[in-house]
Amino acid sequence: MTNPEGSNKQMITEMMTAHEPQDTLVLIVDDVATNIQILADTLKDKHHIIFATSGSEALKMAARHEPDLILLDVMMPDIDGFAVCKQLKEDPRLQDIPVIFVTALSEVEDETKGLDLGAVDYITKPVSPPIVRARVRNHLQLKYQRDLLRRIALLDGLTGIANRRHFDDVYEREWRRAQRQGTSLSLVLADIDFFKGYNDHYGHQAGDACLRNVARGVCEQIHRPADLAARFGGEEFICMLPDTPTEGAEEVAERIREAVEALALPHAASAIAPHVTLSLGVATALEPVTTSAEALLKLADEQLYTAKKAGRNQVRTAILPAGSVTS
Ligand code: GH3
Ligand code: MG
Ligand code: MG
Repeated sequence: MTNPEGSNKQMITEMMTAHEPQDTLVLIVDDVATNIQILADTLKDKHHIIFATSGSEALKMAARHEPDLILLDVMMPDIDGFAVCKQLKEDPRLQDIPVIFVTALSEVEDETKGLDLGAVDYITKPVSPPIVRARVRNHLQLKYQRDLLRRIALLDGLTGIANRRHFDDVYEREWRRAQRQGTSLSLVLADIDFFKGYNDHYGHQAGDACLRNVARGVCEQIHRPADLAARFGGEEFICMLPDTPTEGAEEVAERIREAVEALALPHAASAIAPHVTLSLGVATALEPVTTSAEALLKLADEQLYTAKKAGRNQVRTAILPAGSVTS
């Protein structure tokens, strides 16, 4: 989510054009080699194929490769296809992979059971290659669109960076992890100075463009894979920095402050500079504390307020006391 270029608009356009998903990986599972061969021959022109000849191997392959779709035989000697499907659906990492049963079992009860287990489709043997191709294509298309919608739901519509909802989810998770592992966690909360004046002077559209530029400036200073930059509210941005002590977080905050200054976006309505500036509040939890994730957020907000009071365009930092009483 550190790339503001991947804007919502671009992704929505991508979705509307509904092109076929590229480079898709299909896992074929069957204990009979010739059945795998037939399906592989049917699909290999358009998809990458991997295969497994038993239920247990299928589960291993699925976990290792996270394919885009699985064609699953039912009758197999070790774990049967129904049990494989059930296990896949219980694994949060694998449960969204569409499963299509391909089986000789043609009774209504069998098909119902397969679909009840969460399979998206059910094809009976002997298979017709054009139908297999069409069904695989349709289900891959649906998965592609679902994944795209899911990604869009995590992004801020204006700036294209992570939105508040996404931040809240990730922050909650990272807070628990830091508390469990006894590692530090820092927040950097940034707010544009005199932004109301900016809008009043340049107009709302220019204000929006300014927010996009600042979002990019903020994101460019966030480098580690576990870091997350998000739009926190109107003209506020937040960075979550796991495993980062105070000095590190302060350095990132200062870098962000400098980067936004360096954008040199004219701001005639600012009382402190001729260009757009940020005030930033940094808060760090260094060790397990008795307070909640909200307490760290509140501390970052207080530091931001202090930075504003002290003249804006600056960073203020605090450490969350370990023994604070839960608010
Ligand atoms: P301070 O230096 O104390 O932060 O002052 P400020 O004017 O930046 O703060 P204030 O909270 O008074 O105003 C924030 C303004 O941000 C209000 C609104 O005009 C603007 N704003 C919030 N969200 C958006 C948005 O999505 N687009 C635009 N263009 N402006 C926004
Ligand atoms: Mg504000
Ligand atoms: Mg502001």
